[in-house]
Amino acid sequence: MPQVTLNTAIERSQDRAEGYDYLIVGAGFAGSVLAERLATGLGKRVLLIDRREHVGGNAFDHLDEAGVLVHRYGPHIFHTNAQRIVDYLSRFTEWRPYEHRVLAQVGEQQLPIPINLTTLNKLYGRDMDPTQAEAFLKSKAEPVESIRTSEDVVVNQIGRELYETFFRGYTRKQWGLDPSQLDKSVTSRVPTRTNSDDRYFTDTFQMMPLHGYTAMFEKMLDQPGIDILLQTDFAKLDPQLRYAHLVYCGPIDEYFGHRLGRLPYRSLRFEHTTVDKEQFQEVAVVNYPNEAVPYTRITEYKHLTGQRHPRTSLTYEYPCADGDPYYPIPRAENAELYHRYKALADEIPEVTFLGRLGTYKYYNMDQVVGQALALYKHLEQAEQTQGEE
Ligand code: FAD
Ligand code: UDP
Repeated sequence: MPQVTLNTAIERSQDRAEGYDYLIVGAGFAGSVLAERLATGLGKRVLLIDRREHVGGNAFDHLDEAGVLVHRYGPHIFHTNAQRIVDYLSRFTEWRPYEHRVLAQVGEQQLPIPINLTTLNKLYGRDMDPTQAEAFLKSKAEPVESIRTSEDVVVNQIGRELYETFFRGYTRKQWGLDPSQLDKSVTSRVPTRTNSDDRYFTDTFQMMPLHGYTAMFEKMLDQPGIDILLQTDFAKLDPQLRYAHLVYCGPIDEYFGHRLGRLPYRSLRFEHTTVDKEQFQEVAVVNYPNEAVPYTRITEYKHLTGQRHPRTSLTYEYPCADGDPYYPIPRAENAELYHRYKALADEIPEVTFLGRLGTYKYYNMDQVVGQALALYKHLEQAEQTQGEE
């Protein structure tokens, strides 16, 4: 990958009247995809910076001390329904087919989540078929007139008992808020089924980059027009560095010095550990909805990567308020504050905000790739129009 020092970047930016065509802040999916497209598709000169010491953003993976491939920022499973996003990423990686399955620890049992026929039969000691399960859930459901919150949407569908067993504790831990204080879109991510499909996702494409995410990013970014500068915070950049456009994939409120107040983000503390056995748990992720357990889930990476190794590495996720911003928090008051920042952003056309933090959206990886490709298309069209004038 074409890494440079700050001095080289400054020198290169002064070679031409306008400096770099683009400075992109954040080398996650948003910034890296856009950098690749601008450099390869439009022949632009791009400086991509990140304050971390690596590219890949939250999807970064690496070999830990034991030699096991782990994800530093928690489990990342690629899934999408969009063929064009798979086609695009396939330029930089081969894939390993992988369908994600998750179990929830409920008392002494580990039950499939999303709730499905097997979950219901095991939890209630029954032997229902899908039609009976549907009737059973209907009898449990407690209709809510106006469905607004993450509590409403679940209680309306499956009733309070199952809601409390699988959703309330997990959500309170994950977000530091009761589900009744969160937008319905949050728990709506997890469906309920009455068949025995126990996959976490039902997307058409579900797979993992064969050699990992970091290897995919390195190939994506290995382009002549891209310079990469790591361990560099935008806020502390040398003013001598010249560039024509800025694309900012960090938190939008931070860019504006929090002048309208702080946008809340939820953080996580990751506890990484390696154990001396070949396999620790039955599936890649086990969720702990019980509020008395301080972590939300344990991930065992070898299930995701297919790696064979005599030991196995795990990550425990402990949600917290302070730390790196991992999750925008979907609720009306935050959306309102974001829109006030967006209005400020709209006044500065030379700066574009992108990605999960830049647009304050609870996006999956494929959605961020789609957002970056859409921005590229827009920039490409603008360039063509300019050329015609
Ligand atoms: P990020 O990956 O956050 O990248 C932003 C980058 O900008 C960071 O590297 C940061 O260091 C840098 N930056 C910020 N501010 C500055 C600054 N001022 N100066 C320099 N650099 C800066 N998605 C899925 O599709 N499947 C999953 O299974 C999945 N699991 C997830 C699990 C967890 C625990 C988390 C937190 C997210 C998960 N996601 C998953 C979502 C996925 O991580 C995001 O969709 C994706 O990584 C967002 O890419 P991004 O480029 O927008 O942001
Ligand atoms: N959720 C839950 N119990 C679970 C799994 C998920 O209550 O066993 C809720 C929780 O609020 C979580 C949300 O559903 O934040 C979305 O879950 P997902 O697995 O999509 O979260 P992510 O992988 O983005 O952290």
